[in-house]
Amino acid sequence: MTSPRRDISPDTLQRLTVAAEPWLSCDDCFEQVDLYVELLLDGETDTLPGLRAHLTACAACAEEARSLLVLAAADAGLDPEEALRRLG
Ligand SMILES: [Zn+2]
Repeated sequence: MTSPRRDISPDTLQRLTVAAEPWLSCDDCFEQVDLYVELLLDGETDTLPGLRAHLTACAACAEEARSLLVLAAADAGLDPEEALRRLG
């Protein structure tokens, strides 16, 4: 029997899981990303933490959010650069 590469006890794992942001599915993300993009363009930086966490972990949704942000910025006649930086 080999020991696991990382020594995390089931207890620790459980606590980490509970402490983490509520996990969003890509569908949940898709439903909220329009709002998120609008908020970013409005200058909000710390909104929808669950969605932020999802975008950090999910390259597909992050890419989607970037394209949406650029489109929304163009629509509103705004420069997307600053909001793209907030997107991370
Ligand atoms: Zn996703």
